[in-house]
Amino acid sequence: MTAPSASRAAVLVPRPFPGPLDYSVQGQAPAPGTLVHVPLGRGKGREVVGCVWDTPQERSSTLAATAMGGAVAAARLKPLGSPLPGVPPLPATLRRFVDWVADYTMSPPGMVLAMAVRAPVQTPPRQPVPGWRPVAPEKPPGLTGAAATPTRLRVWAAAGQGTAKTVPELASAAQCGVAVVRGMINKGWLVQAEHSGAVNPTPQPDYERPTLSDDQRKAASLLVSQVDKAVFSTTLLEGVTGSGKTEVYFEAVEQALRMGRQVLVLLPEIALTAQWGSRFEKRFGCAPLIWHSALGGRARTDVWMACATGQARVVVGARSALFLPFADLGLVVVDEEHEATYKQEEGVLYHGRDMAVVRARLAGAPCILASATPSLETRANVEKGRYGHVLLPRRHGGALMPAVKLINLTKNLPAPGQWLSQPLRDAVSQTLDRGEQALLFLNRRGYAPLTLCRHCGYQFECPHCSAWMVEHKSHQRLTCHHCEHSEPAPAFCPQCGESDMLAAIGPGVERIHEEARRLWPHAELLCLASDEMKSPESLRQAIERVASGQTNLIIGTQLVAKGWHFPHLTTVGVVDADLGLNGADLRAGERTMQLLQQVAGRAGRAERPGTVWLQSWDVRHPLMQAMAHDDMAGFLEAEKAARAPGFWPPFGRLAALVVSAPIAEQAEEMAQLVASVGPHGVPGVQILGPAPAPMAFLRGRHRQRLLLKTQRSVALQPLLRQWLAKVAEVEKEHSAGRQAKSLSWQGDVRLTVDIDPVSF
Ligand code: ADP
Ligand code: ZN
Ligand code: ZN
Repeated sequence: MTAPSASRAAVLVPRPFPGPLDYSVQGQAPAPGTLVHVPLGRGKGREVVGCVWDTPQERSSTLAATAMGGAVAAARLKPLGSPLPGVPPLPATLRRFVDWVADYTMSPPGMVLAMAVRAPVQTPPRQPVPGWRPVAPEKPPGLTGAAATPTRLRVWAAAGQGTAKTVPELASAAQCGVAVVRGMINKGWLVQAEHSGAVNPTPQPDYERPTLSDDQRKAASLLVSQVDKAVFSTTLLEGVTGSGKTEVYFEAVEQALRMGRQVLVLLPEIALTAQWGSRFEKRFGCAPLIWHSALGGRARTDVWMACATGQARVVVGARSALFLPFADLGLVVVDEEHEATYKQEEGVLYHGRDMAVVRARLAGAPCILASATPSLETRANVEKGRYGHVLLPRRHGGALMPAVKLINLTKNLPAPGQWLSQPLRDAVSQTLDRGEQALLFLNRRGYAPLTLCRHCGYQFECPHCSAWMVEHKSHQRLTCHHCEHSEPAPAFCPQCGESDMLAAIGPGVERIHEEARRLWPHAELLCLASDEMKSPESLRQAIERVASGQTNLIIGTQLVAKGWHFPHLTTVGVVDADLGLNGADLRAGERTMQLLQQVAGRAGRAERPGTVWLQSWDVRHPLMQAMAHDDMAGFLEAEKAARAPGFWPPFGRLAALVVSAPIAEQAEEMAQLVASVGPHGVPGVQILGPAPAPMAFLRGRHRQRLLLKTQRSVALQPLLRQWLAKVAEVEKEHSAGRQAKSLSWQGDVRLTVDIDPVSF
């Protein structure tokens, strides 16, 4: 390590620059990771909070060194401002992670840093008040015999309970004077600990341990030994729904806690954190810290600080928790690793699951990926031997997997305006008669996906997107699910003026709710869709009603398919099992399979066996057959066989280049130009497109897409960097000759690069 230059410091600022900026320093430069105020822009410009960054020599040689303003004479540099008070420096492991994510996703490092420091910058931490804790769990040798007065023992006990306390707090808790407490501090029996709002009481490893089955014990012992080794590894924990994956990885969490290390658990959905948190609390005797975007500023900063100071033991959260400044990360868990929601689709486009593996590697910690239906990407890594694999083949406690039955809709057509076939109605009626619970699943929000004028054929489309407006009957509105544009439900057709000919086409979950209410007027109905569940608390209450059996008929969207445990649920009806199979998306089949498995997995998790009914227009489809015959392995083999020859992921790699503009021709022209300077004729590399993106018009912008597909042996990012450099060159030429006929360089044309796109 070279000592930082005394005259200048590199500071990464949360702006889209290619690298850190140089500032002049009086005397010793602050340590890398320190958050500091720095001036930005000309003259007495604005000030931002940046992070003192390492010099290229200090960074790992595997990272591309970003340009630094070394050419600027030291005298002309702006001065470094003051550090943010009370904020510990970002740990080196997090700084390397920021560099890595920026490099991999081809994003400006400052924009990645912004995700890591937003909390303390927006809401500065409370100033620490010194608190005091016992020096060790056991009483020190000096505090025995005559020295162990009842007063001192009361202070000792008070200091050991809950969060660290100030001297006056200890004195009042022990009903003694402050001098007694100070005396104990002078003897070294009490040591200073920070007094912070977020300190969570330490989870207790042995609080309530379940007795594991043989399968579970085997899986757990492997994961525990990995935590014990304290080196990086990745292990897939695969197990059917209800097999006890959570209980098994809790054992690994326990081991990390014993070792005094920190644990990060990622969940694919904020909604799941509450149920997960109470499960954790039952097992470990105290709640984990929760992190997600809906958290208030103060709470976010408290969690951030607790991670940085090492006080946070276990954090459960959304993918953005990867950017928390853990002081000593000992384990990373990604639950439901196959979920597409791990991909961030705005700003820095990163895949939370893949970056979790990187985070663990840079921290030297093991990573566990858990799923009942692992992604093909993860399976491929297992097959190549890069990831370990443990399997839980059975449901816990002898519960059987649900039986799957297909309903051929062409032979069991519901009456017009109805969506539940006779066999499904009979199954639900019988379930309710037996006093059990049924779930009707349709992954479509709202009342109807299309409103149509039967007189002139007019379809109500979003003015900003290539999408239909979805009717939401409860709010009497039409809403676009891509941009949130919303209008009052129309009274007449804007094209022909007819008022009696508007028709709702197709079902959404609200419409199934309506049909169910007609069919089963005496059932306790509950509609579980994100439109009904405005707050995490209302969702928590709804889930609780289902789990405790207060409702017996649930209508739901993918919100119900998540990892919930519903012990009374025995019958699941999937209203439209084909939904999601159409379209050109590479992963349409895989993803529909995962969703159906996940929904099916809600049924029969306790003593009574479950049955899943799939309504389909195409019961001969390989996926329906695989579901009915419980042959996921066969289905996945077929999926792989379809992807391998063209080097589609996971056999090759993919990047999407999306050109968007307010005017369609602008986007088309620019996309052609981008394509013309692409890496054509390079072995193992293929350029597909440009073609209209799957959402060709989105939020008022026309979108053209190019796909760069490479074989695994090709380094994708360098290829893309060269390509983008050429695009920038052409762009310069064009803007030099301003009057160019080309539309593309005028106005608001954007190019975004998405490495490993998940939906296309
Ligand atoms: P998965 O995550 O694989 O779906 P869970 O860990 O949620 O499975 O377990 C399913 C249910 O079975 C939960 O209610 C869980 O508490 C229970 N369970 C699993 N393993 C055990 C065990 N060894 N002892 C007691 N209960 C268990
Ligand atoms: Zn009309
Ligand atoms: Zn829209």
